[in-house]
Amino acid sequence: MERESMIEKPLRVLYVASEVYPLAKTGGLGDVSSVLPSALRQLGVDARLLIPAYRGVIAQIQGYPVSGLFSVLPSLGPVQLFRGVLPEALPGSLTPVYAVECPFLYDRLGGPYLDSYGQDWPDNALRFAVLSKVAALFGSGSGLDGWQPHIIHCNDWQTGLVPVYLAHHPEAYSCSVISIHNLAFQGNFSPDLMPVLGLPWSCFNYHGIEFYGCISYLKAGLYYADKILTVSQSYAREIQTPEFGFGLEGLLADCRGRLTGILNGIDVSRWNPSTDPYLVANYDASNLCGKLENKRELQVRMRLDPELDLPILALVTRLTEQKGVDLVLSLMVELLEQPLQVVVLGSGDKNYQLQWKVLAAQYPGRVGVAIGYDEGLAHLIEAGADLFLMPSRFEPCGLNQMYSMRYGTLPVVRRTGGLADSVVDVTPRSLLDGTATGFVFENANRSELLACLLRALLLYGNSRDWRQVQSHGMHCDFSWAASAALYLELYRTTVSARWSLV
Ligand code: ADP
Repeated sequence: MERESMIEKPLRVLYVASEVYPLAKTGGLGDVSSVLPSALRQLGVDARLLIPAYRGVIAQIQGYPVSGLFSVLPSLGPVQLFRGVLPEALPGSLTPVYAVECPFLYDRLGGPYLDSYGQDWPDNALRFAVLSKVAALFGSGSGLDGWQPHIIHCNDWQTGLVPVYLAHHPEAYSCSVISIHNLAFQGNFSPDLMPVLGLPWSCFNYHGIEFYGCISYLKAGLYYADKILTVSQSYAREIQTPEFGFGLEGLLADCRGRLTGILNGIDVSRWNPSTDPYLVANYDASNLCGKLENKRELQVRMRLDPELDLPILALVTRLTEQKGVDLVLSLMVELLEQPLQVVVLGSGDKNYQLQWKVLAAQYPGRVGVAIGYDEGLAHLIEAGADLFLMPSRFEPCGLNQMYSMRYGTLPVVRRTGGLADSVVDVTPRSLLDGTATGFVFENANRSELLACLLRALLLYGNSRDWRQVQSHGMHCDFSWAASAALYLELYRTTVSARWSLV
């Protein structure tokens, strides 16, 4: 492809991710990857996805090969590129998906990152190096499938090597941006891998991909990308401090000139209480009767006593310390002295799973626990619960608080990251001016969380104020339209540093 001195519309963006709903999802990244490219396409961007061909993916995207077998890493067998479309995309937008087929790396039972025993796949370093290298091939030489993106949008450590591969390619074309969805996961691997990755040893140093003696895929991405993004403005500030930086705070502070926070949107068509197919009754802000039907159904599904007047407190989450699960567990006995019920859906730390199961056994009819991953039940919980707990120690963006507000379920959150940027605490003033949407507390400790929950329960007893807060949350606009426009602006400034836009 001939080098352009000016770029013509449409802007071409390759969005590279290790998970995309509904093909593979373990958390918020899967949701974002499925909607942001669609929202960008609605703004006229030629956005396409690149993912690994996990088991079943090629069939789901109705993929067909757009390349022969080709080699990407020196000592590894060949891969093949397939192209299809993302199922269940936003109405009117068929997002093209490229899938990297390499059966011995991706075609296996288990999750994108973990085996069925919850252990990291031992070859994760290779699995995601291959994905990154294919992305970089799109962005260099003559591209792939006759297409070359202006921007490669990388996500988290799994795609952190893309900017490095681009930086070391003699005919690199694309600019790169990387989004941090969670700084705690960095993809740190032994330097023994350097020869396998096909990168020169010269980049294995402090000013490069080395991090405390390891190769860090995330640091690599942060160091070499043209722009660094994270998923809320508060998190962009927080990660420059030792409390939230996981050792990368110094680098991030140095890079603050190219670091931006853009709050994630949510898929308002998939998370819409008036059309949600997972609910037993649909409803909207003007008529909440259906919400009560879902509460009834939730009580049946979770074996709770059929008491519609009791508030239901819910958690749908990875059961990890990040999410403050230990804080909730530590005050459960005290909390259950109040007239309320608790519903938990999640998986993760075996110890937390066990503690929740024990609580469910100790409080039959009052505590309902489902261990596992269940998309439909997550929707029913958003609809049937009254309060949604997110006492996270850190939260880059968080999506569930936005789903909750949309479903008339009041979030209880810690003032951190995207939670701080999306929930307005109930105070006399915010009640008066109609901006309140939930309950916010400052510090991740048991007593502040308990005080906040008691405040929430007090408001539950005042149905007029409760309805007002519910209604305000349900009317908030968390759609992707606004955030996608911000991404487009960022892409434009990034490419205009290299090309003139026409
Ligand atoms: P994170 O990405 O840190 O896990 P987010 O709040 O950004 O947290 O996104 C979590 C997403 O994963 C939401 O869509 C939530 O509903 C979903 N989720 C988390 N755990 C489960 C589960 N056990 N079952 C179903 N959905 C879940």
